Amino acid sequence: MAHAVKELYPDVKLAIGPATSDGFYYDFDCGKMITEDDLSLIEGEMLEIIKADKAFVREEHSKKEAVELFKSLGETYKIELLNEIEDDVVTLYKEDNFIDLCRGPHLKSTGEVKAFKLLSVAGAYWRGNERNKMLQRIYGTAFPTKDELKQYLSFLEEVKKRDHRRLGKDLDLYSINDDIGAGLVLWHPKGALIRTIIENFWREEHYKAGYQILFTPHIAKLDLWKKTGHVDFYRENMYSPMEIEGTDYEIKPMNCPFHIAIYKSHLRSYKDLPLRFAELGTVYRYERSGVLHGLLRVRGFTQDDAHIFCREDQLENEILNILELTLFVLRTFGFSDYDIYLSTRPEKFVGTLEIWDKATDALKNALTLKGLEYSVDPGEGVFYGPKIDIKVKDSLGRPWQCSTIQVDFNIPERLDVTYRGRDNRDCMPIMVHRALMGSLERFFGILIEHYAGAFPLWLSPVQAGVLTISERHVEYGKTVREALLKENLRVELNAKDEKIGYKIREATLQKIPYLCIVGDKEKSNGTVNVRTRSGENMGEMPIEKIKTILKEEITKRR
Ligand code: ZN
Repeated sequence: MAHAVKELYPDVKLAIGPATSDGFYYDFDCGKMITEDDLSLIEGEMLEIIKADKAFVREEHSKKEAVELFKSLGETYKIELLNEIEDDVVTLYKEDNFIDLCRGPHLKSTGEVKAFKLLSVAGAYWRGNERNKMLQRIYGTAFPTKDELKQYLSFLEEVKKRDHRRLGKDLDLYSINDDIGAGLVLWHPKGALIRTIIENFWREEHYKAGYQILFTPHIAKLDLWKKTGHVDFYRENMYSPMEIEGTDYEIKPMNCPFHIAIYKSHLRSYKDLPLRFAELGTVYRYERSGVLHGLLRVRGFTQDDAHIFCREDQLENEILNILELTLFVLRTFGFSDYDIYLSTRPEKFVGTLEIWDKATDALKNALTLKGLEYSVDPGEGVFYGPKIDIKVKDSLGRPWQCSTIQVDFNIPERLDVTYRGRDNRDCMPIMVHRALMGSLERFFGILIEHYAGAFPLWLSPVQAGVLTISERHVEYGKTVREALLKENLRVELNAKDEKIGYKIREATLQKIPYLCIVGDKEKSNGTVNVRTRSGENMGEMPIEKIKTILKEEITKRR
């Protein structure tokens, strides 16, 4: 691709072009603005290069030689890259009259490329830094066979249809507004309604599981974040402090210190443990504008956070309870397929070897007792403790990191968290941070894509639509709506002067699960004619019956 672009636009400068998990991209500094329309032209040029079947030749050069070579070619970005490479010898790959800096390996010749497609073009800052020049990035993919490429392209079509940013707009769920700020989410009424249902469910299940729910402020003194170590280790994710009456305050990137302050508001005894504090806590973290992505990567978000304070001998049971609650919550939202990872002690760590081993064993035993398969990521734990991460798989089989369970030996020590032991001496409790959904924003984004916006009935902002055939049926339509509203069902009446076919199409696009159509026959029989958003015709039925159908489906949270 880079060769083709160079052939077409000789003044182009090559920046960087790596392979990714599902294809490749290349960043170009090009005087001409490359558009989607140009991609077929570039593809045509690529086909010529493939047809010529030129060999890829590997060359070793000293770094100095390579710098000279790229200087003569005017490839300034390559020189910048070379200056950062520590080895004295670097490899270049050559094909026909095209040469590039590359670690390799490569195919033998261009003719071995059997199926490829250029997918899109976008702006990208050199080295991902918004202070640098904006380059043009072309994305593409390649496969060993045309069939595999075709399969992948239809997968991409499905991904596009499910894009939560598009559905979020079409279904009027949320928006992100440039006047408010990048990465800051506005929840519209229908999205906010779904969030409320999720939150209510979450609270109910947490009370049942023995958690106590907290609320804490959004800012705290900068000194607190110094004590916790955030200012030292987490600075680049935090915003600048603000001043209140001569004291610096910081907007919170985490909820932990607040929960600890509540823990420390009383003297705790070994008999008080475990204590389980949970909060839907809104935090703010600095993310570069280049990495923000719809609801999936934002600057302000609400974590479904909890901190468990327990004794060593209680840890395994607590992890077991957390796993149980996590899998129950994920299953309820329709995720029954996941990958579980256990991350163990890294090279740099706090705490003793003994406590690390005990905690790691507790995590392992809990996973085994639950009969869960997991992979071990050796040395991938955080410096303060081992952790379990759960990635859910959505309806397209894509993995999403949601749940995390982290043991922490650091912060209780730093903030002097203790309990009075059996022997009347002060001991340090084990602290576990955990989030099941991760953040409500991200989880909502994943839910939208998982269901392609067609939420299960219990989550649907509108559960039934009442559609009138003509003006004669408006009064009866209102009666039907009232009857369903009385049962706490979420109903919308469409009595507009439009053709019924149009109303059905509109309601289907809004993904309303059940449509109750009312005309002459239904009016005189006291019935409704029911269709589903998937097009199934359930026929005429009494109002009582559709009520029962809806209520049963909601109870089952199917
Ligand atoms: Zn925490």
